[in-house]
Parts: sequence; structure tokens; C-alpha cells
Amino acid sequence: LADRLGGVFDRLTRQGALTEADVQTAMREVRTALLEADVSLPVAREFTRAIERKATGQQVTKSVTPGQQVVKIVHDELVRVLGGETDPGPLKIDNPPAPILMVGLQGGGKTTTTAKLARRLKEREGKKVLMASLDTNRPAAMEQLAILGQQIGVDTLPIVPGEDPVAIARRAKTQASLGGYDVYMLDTAGRLHIDEVLIQQAADVRDVVKPRETLLVVDGLTGQVAVEVAKEFDDKIGVSGVVLTRMDGDGRGGAALSMRSVTGKPIRFVGLGEKLDALETFDPERIAGRILGMGDIVALVERAQQTFEAEQAERMMKRFQKGLFNMNDLRMQLEQMQKMGGVEAVMGMMPGMNKMQKQAAEAGLDDRMIRRQIALINSMTKKERANPDLLQASRKKRIAAGAGLEVSELNRLLKQHRQMADMMKKLGAMGKGGMLKQAVQ
Ligand code: GDP
Ligand code: MG
Repeated sequence: LADRLGGVFDRLTRQGALTEADVQTAMREVRTALLEADVSLPVAREFTRAIERKATGQQVTKSVTPGQQVVKIVHDELVRVLGGETDPGPLKIDNPPAPILMVGLQGGGKTTTTAKLARRLKEREGKKVLMASLDTNRPAAMEQLAILGQQIGVDTLPIVPGEDPVAIARRAKTQASLGGYDVYMLDTAGRLHIDEVLIQQAADVRDVVKPRETLLVVDGLTGQVAVEVAKEFDDKIGVSGVVLTRMDGDGRGGAALSMRSVTGKPIRFVGLGEKLDALETFDPERIAGRILGMGDIVALVERAQQTFEAEQAERMMKRFQKGLFNMNDLRMQLEQMQKMGGVEAVMGMMPGMNKMQKQAAEAGLDDRMIRRQIALINSMTKKERANPDLLQASRKKRIAAGAGLEVSELNRLLKQHRQMADMMKKLGAMGKGGMLKQAVQ
């Protein structure tokens, strides 16, 4: 997709803003690529329409091509849609024993995912977990869960031949309370297709245990089928979250996008293999990269972002040349330092900053300090940021309090700013003589 978009835009002359025609041409490519990635047509349409609205008329940043710019917009929109507007928060498994109901079609990865999630809850959150198989259709399925339980050191409900799923669910509930479990997970039977019996069984179990989470496990490789399945299950049983399995395969992740847009349900986890540790929390960035066409596009977007930053630096340089350096400039520098992993990396890149770099190191300007300084600058008013000389003692106290810090810390920041501003003035004066320009190039 990246290549295609690049191609479309390379043929266009560079313009100040993305025109409607440019964007429409690009969106035709995007739509085709989404369909190839197994996104459903209505979703692909809606998605590209949203982007058209956002992209048309946007200024093209000087240092990136229009193609890169569009790719970035597409990427950001993918992340937004995949992640949804609202963060679902952690799984609702407080109030022990909390029931989690696992539903889905046969072969989708329910039993495996049940064990993977149990392992995760045990190891990452220290939960005591009980697993129970309600799959009375296939005795082997119950054995399978028991064996997985042994592998990960998680208890399974003893198997009683001849019991029906509702009876097993009741027993699991009782056992979970008596045994002091934090969570009990019910692995339901699956079928090859959704039918009345399957749904009725799951609904009966649901009514008995009243699950805190009902997780639908679907095969991510089945694309649109997975979305249809999700709609059905949600209508009939009510689903609180989705797990997409087999995302380690060569599927392109389109199911994730449709899933999120069509059902509105959060994708909680992705399965990335058969091993019991191959379960990860859902990462919209990662899937977005995949839908856009794997690594190359992510690299491209990252490069585009770097160029945005370069442009910011350029703008900042222009201010410095004029000898301007206020709190906003300082904050931008601090933020950049944070992003780039430290004082040295950034200061080393700024001309005339070598000395500052040493001073900063001596002053103990580490990451925690950077965070505190940004907090201080944030609690200043706009005016104060533009001209920190305005600050009087009473305001200083309030600003420090606003950031939860001592006034001495604020004074240190102000001193540092003054030193840097002085330096900028000197550099600026030199700049008029052309020396700074040389240093920049
Ligand atoms: P169930 O019928 O829904 O309980 O499905 P199972 O848990 O028995 O899984 C069916 C098959 O899919 C098994 O061979 C699993 O090892 C495999 N499987 C499950 N999740 C994943 C995954 O995320 N990636 C891969 N590659 N295989 C998986
Ligand atoms: Mg199973």
C-alpha cells in the first residue's frame, strides 16, 4: 500500500495543500488495499470517507511528500478506529470469584486461549484461577483443558462424566467460592456454525453464572466471517470483548478493523501462536502497521515523523538566531529530550550546546528532572511562559504548588532558562555575522 500511495503522489506536482482530487485518487488505492486485507466493503468505504474529510486541504509538510503525508493520516486513522474512542480499561475481574465466559466457534482457539489467559492472569496479576470445560460434546476437549492446566499450573474443575454444561457451570461457581479462587473461566463448547443449540447453551450458562467478562474467541484469519460471528454472538449472548487468534499467520489484520467498526467491541487480546505464552494485549499501532503493508510502511511513517520533528527544530533554530528563547522553547527542548531518550542525545545535536550538555549532566538533569521541569512550565500561564521575567514570588509559590514541587526547584529551572537564553542571545548575535549559520550547516 505504501508503494502504491507513493506512486500515485510522485506523479503529482508538489503543492501546498492536499487537493480533493489528490486525496480521492489515494483513497481509491487505500480502499482496494483494505479490501485485500479482508476488511469488509462498508467498513472500507466509511473509513476512506473519514480520511477524505480529514486529509483534504491539509497542508503538506515541507519535508515529507504528499504520499507520506497521506500514509501518515491513514495510519493515524487506523490506530484511532482500531483503538476505539474509549479505553475499555482492565478486565473486570475484581470481586472474587469473577466468572469469565469464553465463547466462539469450534476450532477458533477457545480452549487454547482460555489456558493462555489463565496463565497470564496467574503470572502477571497473581490471580488464583480455576478453569472448567463445558464442552460435553467432545470428552477429548475436557481432557485437553485438563492437560493445558497441568502445563501452566492452573487448576481445572474435576471432570464428572454425564453432566450437562449448566450443571458444570454451577459446580465451577461453587468450587470457585469454596476454593478461594479470584477468577473462574468457563470454556464453552463450540460448533462449526452458529446454531440454536449452541446459543441456547451459552445463554443458559450465562444466566447461571452472570459472567463479568464474556470473551468471544475468533480466528483472525477468517476475516469477515469472524465479524459475522461476532455480531451473532453479541446479539444473542452479549459479548464484552474479543480475542483474535492466529494473528501470527499471514492474514493482514483486516478482521481487526472490521471487528472494531462493526461490533464496537474492544479487541482485548491477540493470539500469536500455539504456545501458551503466545497471547498479547491488542496493540492498535501494530495492527495498523500490518494492514498498511508491514514493516516498510511503519518505517516510512516513522521517517515522516522524524521529518516533522526536523521541521520543528528548524523553526526553533530560526528563533534562536533571533536570540529568542522563552519557556515554550525550553519546554519543547525538554520534551524532545524525553522523546529521544536523554539529555546527551539532544544537546549533542544543538550547535553550541556541548558546554550546556556538560552543565546539564553536572546539574543532574535526568529524566525525572525533565518531567518535573515540564510540569512546572505547564503550570505557568501563557504570558509567563512567553516572558518568565514576569514571575513574582507569590506566583512562583503557586506554580510550584501547582506542579507539586518546591519553589527551589522552580528557581533552578528559571536559572537554567536564563543561562540558556543568554547563550542564545550570544549565539544570535553571532548568527547575524553568519557564524551560527555555519554551525547549523
Ligand atoms: P477451540 O475449538 O475453539 O477450543 O480451539 P482450540 O483451542 O482447540 O484451538 C484449535 C487449534 O488452533 C489448536 O491446534 C491450537 O493450537 C490452534 N491455535 C489457537 N490459537 C492459536 C493462535 O493464536 N495461533 C496459532 N497459530 N494457532 C492457534
Ligand atoms: Mg475447545
